[in-house]
Amino acid sequence: MSDIISVLPDAVANQIAAGEVIQRPASVVKELVENGIDAEASEVTIVIKDGGKTLIQVIDNGKGMSETDARLAFERHATSKIKSAEDLFAIRSMGFRGEALASIAAVAQVELKTRTPESELGTAIAIEGSQVKKQEPTQAPVGTNFAVKNLFFNIPARRKFLKKNHTEFNHIVHEIQRVALANPQVSFRLIHNNSDIYNLPQSNIRQRIVNVFGKKINANLIALETETSLIKIGGFIGKPEHARKKAGEQFFFINNRFMRNAYLNKAITEAYERILPPETLPSYFIFLEADPASIDINIHPTKTEIKFEHQQAIWQILHAAVKQALGKNNVVPSIDFEQDANFNIPIRNTETPVKAPEITVNPAFNPFEEEKKQPRSNFSPPSPSPREKNNQQNWEELYKGFENEKQELESFYGNKPIETAPAAQQKIYTDTSTGGTFYQLKEKYILTSIKSGLMIIDQKRAHERILYEYFMNAIAHHSAISQKSLFPVTIDLTPDEHITILGVKDDLHQLGFDIDDFGGNSIVINGMPAESAHLDAQDIIDKFLHALQSGNSNFQSKAKEQVASSLAKASAIGHKQTLSQQEMQGIFDNLFACGTPNYTPEGKKIITIIRTDELEKRFE
Ligand code: ADP
Ligand code: MG
Repeated sequence: MSDIISVLPDAVANQIAAGEVIQRPASVVKELVENGIDAEASEVTIVIKDGGKTLIQVIDNGKGMSETDARLAFERHATSKIKSAEDLFAIRSMGFRGEALASIAAVAQVELKTRTPESELGTAIAIEGSQVKKQEPTQAPVGTNFAVKNLFFNIPARRKFLKKNHTEFNHIVHEIQRVALANPQVSFRLIHNNSDIYNLPQSNIRQRIVNVFGKKINANLIALETETSLIKIGGFIGKPEHARKKAGEQFFFINNRFMRNAYLNKAITEAYERILPPETLPSYFIFLEADPASIDINIHPTKTEIKFEHQQAIWQILHAAVKQALGKNNVVPSIDFEQDANFNIPIRNTETPVKAPEITVNPAFNPFEEEKKQPRSNFSPPSPSPREKNNQQNWEELYKGFENEKQELESFYGNKPIETAPAAQQKIYTDTSTGGTFYQLKEKYILTSIKSGLMIIDQKRAHERILYEYFMNAIAHHSAISQKSLFPVTIDLTPDEHITILGVKDDLHQLGFDIDDFGGNSIVINGMPAESAHLDAQDIIDKFLHALQSGNSNFQSKAKEQVASSLAKASAIGHKQTLSQQEMQGIFDNLFACGTPNYTPEGKKIITIIRTDELEKRFE
């Protein structure tokens, strides 16, 4: 056999290597800004066009590069920051792998202008897909100016993968937030499509946090400081009452480098245990300082995953520091109480005679009848108009949805073969031993007796499904009802949130939101969907943003579904909410009028059934 191995041409090798470091415009921003910081700049300006797809320009007033260095900088593994392997254990700079510029130049059109304070003339270099196109002396201020154009111009498959401009810009904003928080001594300016997004003056860290996240955060910051021989910890944590339903304000830095660390994140969230409202997340801005020899930042090309030599000890120290800071603020409950009895039985005054439960059975109840005869809960949205007609079809759909859970299914429909399902449906209701009575378990589940056993419904998920179908219907038929707010609510957002909201404004409008851009990262809510109007606008928008940001970001293709599902999630009743019989009935009825009653829009199970024979087995 002839030889088949060949060494890849440099251009291809470079493109492959670039994939590790440069995933999207935000990666370019991160690398260039970090280079500016490493060059000791005191001012960094970032100019973005079209989410970074057309232009990413980073201008710094750092020490600049000589003519030779400017040319060398684009070589792979060309770095001024380390010289030997030992240096890897003493890293204080952001970069050190010498890969970023080589990677960027492999997949974009790059123009560099740079000058050192010592030389009168600067250097201009143009490089495209790793090919140097031009190098010449030029007039330039001291510092470095990189313009990166048409990212992935030579890899159409990668370029196609980029998300919408506002999504890509969002990622850029996140990178800027991280580097700006880590470097308050540097002033940053961020411009997108000619509008100023951030203009952050040099300041202390607290002021920087406020400049990035808005004035309101100031009153909610608790300072934290601890020093041990292993690690020094400083920064701020958020007051529990400030905790919001989104994960946007959690930052860890190690030696002024942003890092992700799920393990240490737990040290913080566990310190907040039991003092946070359900489903909220604490804010934190934690700065760790450790001997560079005791950490490893070299595990991943983007250098955000970091290994600690003394992980467990640091966990303990951090956990204690957060607890202590919270304690100083008097926010930790003094007694650790045992949570949750098994059932939420209302506490009864023993003197009151015990009454037999009243069972409200409606013998005339027919699920196929027009639903207006049924008691309607205020949790149920106005019915999508042609519901009556659809009911039969929906029941069939429901039936289909259960196909995967054959066992449950069979008992649900009394072991009838699949074909006879619609006829068998009536039987669900004809088991009237406790018919129409609902029992709530742990303020979380609705329990009701059905023919084949006990049906358990997750109340929150059920309501999510109901609202989702309602919202989707409203979008499709332009039938959403907007309720005008008596007092329009102004909501301050972070720049990325602002962009996100504006990006889905039209969809939100179709859902019944009346939103205006108020400028300066604020929006005004003049009206809300009628179904959500009783809720707090700020809370809804927070939860909505959280749901959008944590949902799989298949945003482009399914924007409407995403918006409807996020809004449904945000507006749905929660767990820990006591429901009346009527409300439970309302959820039950509306759930089974849905197209897909058994799963949430995200595919989570809503219903489960414990069959009678299973129960009987337990008593054997
Ligand atoms: P690294 O940052 O890992 O060293 P890069 O590819 O990002 O690798 O940069 C290569 C080299 O180019 C750096 O080590 C530095 O010497 C020089 N350089 C890059 N950007 C700048 C800048 N903005 N100002 C001064 N020098 C720079
Ligand atoms: Mg670098």
